[in-house]
Amino acid sequence: MAAAPKIIVIGGGLAGLAAVIKIAEMGGNVDLFSIVPVKRSHSVCAQGGINAAKNLKGEGDSTWQHFDDTIYGGDFLANQPPVKAMCDAAPGIIDLLDRMGVPFNRTPEGLLDFRRFGGTLYNRTAFAGATTGQQLLYALDEQVRRYEAEGKVKKYEHWEFLSAVLDGRGVCRGICAMDLRTMEIRTFPADAIIVATGGIGAIFGKSTNSVVCTGSAQSALYQQGCYYANGEFIQVHPTAIPGADKLRLISESARGEGGRVWVPRDPKDGRPPADIPEGERDYLLERMYPGYGNLVPRDIASRAIFRTCYHEGRGIFDPDTGKNGNQVYLDLTHKDEAFLRKKLAGVLEIYEKFVGVNPYKNPMKVFPAVHYSMGGLWCDFEKNAGGSLVVGSPRNQATSIPGLYAAGEVDYQYHGANRLGANSLLSCIYAGMVVGPAMASFRQALAQSSFDLPSSVFERAEKRERDDYQRILTQNQNGGGTENAYLLHQELGETMLRDCTIERDNKVLDGVIGKIGELEDRVRRVRVTDTSPRMNQGAQFVRHLENMLLIARVIAEGARARDESRGAHYKPAYPKRDDAQFSRTTLARHAGVGSVKFIRDFDYQCAGKNVHVTDELDLSLVKPRERKYEQAGAASAVAKRETDKESPVGDFPGSRASVSGR
Ligand SMILES: Cc1cc2nc3c(=O)[nH]c(=O)nc-3n(C[C@H](O)[C@H](O)[C@H](O)COP(=O)(O)OP(=O)(O)OC[C@H]3O[C@@H](n4cnc5c(N)ncnc54)[C@H](O)[C@@H]3O)c2cc1C
Repeated sequence: MAAAPKIIVIGGGLAGLAAVIKIAEMGGNVDLFSIVPVKRSHSVCAQGGINAAKNLKGEGDSTWQHFDDTIYGGDFLANQPPVKAMCDAAPGIIDLLDRMGVPFNRTPEGLLDFRRFGGTLYNRTAFAGATTGQQLLYALDEQVRRYEAEGKVKKYEHWEFLSAVLDGRGVCRGICAMDLRTMEIRTFPADAIIVATGGIGAIFGKSTNSVVCTGSAQSALYQQGCYYANGEFIQVHPTAIPGADKLRLISESARGEGGRVWVPRDPKDGRPPADIPEGERDYLLERMYPGYGNLVPRDIASRAIFRTCYHEGRGIFDPDTGKNGNQVYLDLTHKDEAFLRKKLAGVLEIYEKFVGVNPYKNPMKVFPAVHYSMGGLWCDFEKNAGGSLVVGSPRNQATSIPGLYAAGEVDYQYHGANRLGANSLLSCIYAGMVVGPAMASFRQALAQSSFDLPSSVFERAEKRERDDYQRILTQNQNGGGTENAYLLHQELGETMLRDCTIERDNKVLDGVIGKIGELEDRVRRVRVTDTSPRMNQGAQFVRHLENMLLIARVIAEGARARDESRGAHYKPAYPKRDDAQFSRTTLARHAGVGSVKFIRDFDYQCAGKNVHVTDELDLSLVKPRERKYEQAGAASAVAKRETDKESPVGDFPGSRASVSGR
């Protein structure tokens, strides 16, 4: 076996780049694959910030409080040890990023500045204006370039991962990928593989995600044997604006810096917002949730806006159409313009550019949009005696395919039933950093290097993908093909968005599942109109569409099966969380096109050992309690009592800090 491990990382967003840096630091070599140039990965869009309980404002915040807010915000669906380990690591991650040169905002004293985000009462979010994702991505990219110059990293930009190369025992030995310029298909061997391919927003048609976020890679891996966990948990962000290509986010940081959501009290009030006096406005989130106000978690804010607009018909009135739209005001006009320019210019610029209205002087018109997937590829962790993670365990971030790891939005590990704002950038970087040492341990236990395997293992995989690509190019070319892939995608998106997001109903979900079945059938009749041998985006899109349909089914059937309300998954017919029946991970197994099996346990092999996995949650650190945000501190006060009495993990820096009376 070669002295230095060779690892493939698929995805050049924050999770992928963090993993590359960690592996290169440990002496490994990396092949890095990305559909788009690494610096264009979707992470670049992140606006508001990244969480870490550094408590620089002296509020008594602590990593334990961050952990508790995250578990509580996720409605007790996350396994607790990885979340705790992430929150403990967060302050160090911010310091690391700061040293790498991320231009975080600072206070007049020169300290890192922190703002508030949803689901917490603390100023816990570090930020670089409103372009935090871009600053982080560029900082990590610079580090990766350093390793690239040293010959430790080779980038394959504009290459698409198609599938994993599995040996006769089902161990992942490399990948099959396509050069999107020449359409050449090749295999690449490696000792282990990390998938960090981000989110799946395109399944819902338009979302706040970049248009490349189709989830095609994770779907391919699901079809090859990875389990998909908690697929039904899809986050809808309360504040976005429309666009012809995609929806654009107006970050939660706008509310973190004082933005207020309101509608006119009189639903037929068509006056310009500036003419509507304070007393004639309904600040709905402040009224419904006085404790957290505009900074309730996203699932709660989205549902409140949805209820106001759809059920009560009180969205902003348009005098031209005579109708109430599905829109509310997000108002920052009471804030000083210089302050806003310093803290939020990046996001307000987006509003001005795409809506054509000055948000410094006029309230923005916003509405909820699909934003994030809490579910994703199932991955493992190994817990230590203190309830955190065993550093370097080969099980950390391992998927159910030996040798294949997952990190970033593609994994399901850190956010339970609802992600708190600014926790994703953290989970991406943290998971990327954890996965490096995990793979080093995995590789040490490998009996045979991937580079010593017979070439037939790779040739077979390559042939399968070439044949499949030929099928896409040639199917229905001799008549018969009547379907257009882009129109089918539109139908999928409309159905998923309308019937499988904020409110879910079993009868309606049966319709969604039926529609997905219909689309699975019709997609076989797609004929590509472009058969050219270079840069064939049409053929590429057919592959993505076929793969999207499979994950759409996992989402819809998962939602159908979960008869409760928890975090982002809300069924009015079952309005309460049902711990007795559903305090468990949804584990989906591919059972052929048109069929998904939900299972309760399985075994997988990791570094030569059999691991038995069940859907039971690890709730060893904080006991589930009712989740409500009506009163300030209700969550925190209970959390403190529980940790004082029952935490088996001992002291954490600041964990005894008082939070009462907040
Ligand atoms: C508008 C917006 C704002 C946000 N703001 C915040 C915020 O302020 N704070 C926060 O915590 N979170 C935020 N989020 C969420 C956060 O940005 C994402 O969850 C996170 O950036 C995902 O990072 P990632 O590394 O997992 O994936 P990505 O950054 O999406 O990267 C995925 C990578 O995989 C590659 N890839 C995909 N498929 C393939 C394939 N088949 N073959 C090869 N390569 C492939 C892509 O090219 C890309 O390099 C925001 C999300 C949105 C939509």
